[in-house]
Amino acid sequence: MDYLLTEKGKLDLEAILKDRSLYAFDFDGTLAKIVQEHHAARLSRPIRFWLEKLAKRAPTAIISGRSVEDLRSRVGTAVPHLIGNHGSEGPHTRQEDIQQVRETSSGWLELITGRFQDELIRSGVTVENKSYSLSFHYRTVEQRDEARALISRIIAELSPPPRIVLGKSVVNVMSPTASHKGTALLEYMRRLDCSTALYVGDDETDEDVFALRDHRILTVRVGKKKGSAARYFLKRQTEITEMLRLLVEVGDQSIHTWSGCHEHGATRPVQHPNE
Ligand SMILES: [Mg+2]
Repeated sequence: MDYLLTEKGKLDLEAILKDRSLYAFDFDGTLAKIVQEHHAARLSRPIRFWLEKLAKRAPTAIISGRSVEDLRSRVGTAVPHLIGNHGSEGPHTRQEDIQQVRETSSGWLELITGRFQDELIRSGVTVENKSYSLSFHYRTVEQRDEARALISRIIAELSPPPRIVLGKSVVNVMSPTASHKGTALLEYMRRLDCSTALYVGDDETDEDVFALRDHRILTVRVGKKKGSAARYFLKRQTEITEMLRLLVEVGDQSIHTWSGCHEHGATRPVQHPNE
């Protein structure tokens, strides 16, 4: 893993600017700072500013564990392509497949509320129903070991056995048949006719993209981590602003950039720098 904001990293960013690329990002911990209260996460003003500029120039997507509706309430129209539930919710998934994923998730929720409601309340663990997957949150819980033990006990009862992805103070359970962030990104590259992509994430679910080890995808992790399959890292979440600014400014300086991007990527006319 190398630090992105170096000459070498910048050259790799410039290289993807020359192709028709998809710029895709995780939300929590990547575009938005991790906050104590899950519902309080939002885009900072500078990140929204540069993200909107990028999205006006090229195909841009957010692939998050949140539901699409939740993302929409936080991002608005800044980014045109929103993919939820760790890659399983969006227009790229087949209706029959998504219906099955929904049924699996609601079956799990029924079992959980029927058998573990009281224990969950006592422990402080909350279960978020994201329609296509469930998330057990314990960020605000003091007895963290007990919380994790309870979550493990509950997960052991779920049928079919879910795919489990650990996050920061959250355990996500997904249908074993649901598509993940890696498959979602590849599908969006195909749909948007992009030959290369940038993907930035900070968490275990993002390793589904990093682990593709696809030479067409420039992968960046927020926070250096041993064992991550990402090519580059950023030292902290706030450096996302610098990366977005670089993409927009370097892209605008080159005559090769953004070519052919507007038919899919842009939803509004390009505005000029005096805004
Ligand atoms: Mg994240």
